[in-house]
Amino acid sequence: MSISENITSIKTSLRPGVRLVAVSKTKPTEAILEAYHTGQRIFGENKVQEMADKYALLPHDIEWHLIGHLQTNKVKYIAPFVSLIHSVDSLKLLSTIDKEAAKNERIIDCLLQFHIASEETKFGLSEEEAHQLLASGEYRAMQHIRITGVMGMATFTSNEEQIREEFRKLKSIFNCLKETYFTAQPHFTELSMGMSDDYLIAIEEGSTLVRIGSSIFGERNYIK
Ligand SMILES: *Cc1c(COP(=O)(O)O)cnc(C)c1O
Repeated sequence: MSISENITSIKTSLRPGVRLVAVSKTKPTEAILEAYHTGQRIFGENKVQEMADKYALLPHDIEWHLIGHLQTNKVKYIAPFVSLIHSVDSLKLLSTIDKEAAKNERIIDCLLQFHIASEETKFGLSEEEAHQLLASGEYRAMQHIRITGVMGMATFTSNEEQIREEFRKLKSIFNCLKETYFTAQPHFTELSMGMSDDYLIAIEEGSTLVRIGSSIFGERNYIK
């Protein structure tokens, strides 16, 4: 199937209120334009340089979402244009985003990334770290970032019950943070969870943003 057929069929399986992030990492601008011409406007990248290069070449009504691990020294390259950073995993990173957003006279929307998988390798905060971050004076003084929700990646496994449990865990973290820190903030709404292999489970468990790459653009080739 073509990119546009893939997008159309995925979109029909999304419940109202769930938005699709088309994960275009490693894929050329032509592939992104094909998706764009079907009406897709949100694209996700995991590398700063690649995202900045594509931003420069592609239509400016695209919403760029950074979904991969972000180093503080690279924030400046995306601060002028990024729409949503899914991968905030430290106070230090959030503070850098705040400063770079201020320089650009913007407010940058961010998600807190949680470690919900059983693998050691996946990035993300623990619940305790998130509470420390959100209770800190430094966070509360920030004026150029807005935390709009949470993100997580489930374990890479064929065990659907395990994946479902991990998504439920993320949803319960979301609920707890909302009650504790965001009751007066109606913009705290996003639950970024679900990829090509598990997005249907994620939607059943309350996802509002699914990040789908290979089911749209085909398998990625990392060798080049
Ligand atoms: C690559 C990536 C995705 C998309 O993965 P697919 O399995 O190709 O859909 C989603 N989220 C993150 C954080 C990624 O790095």
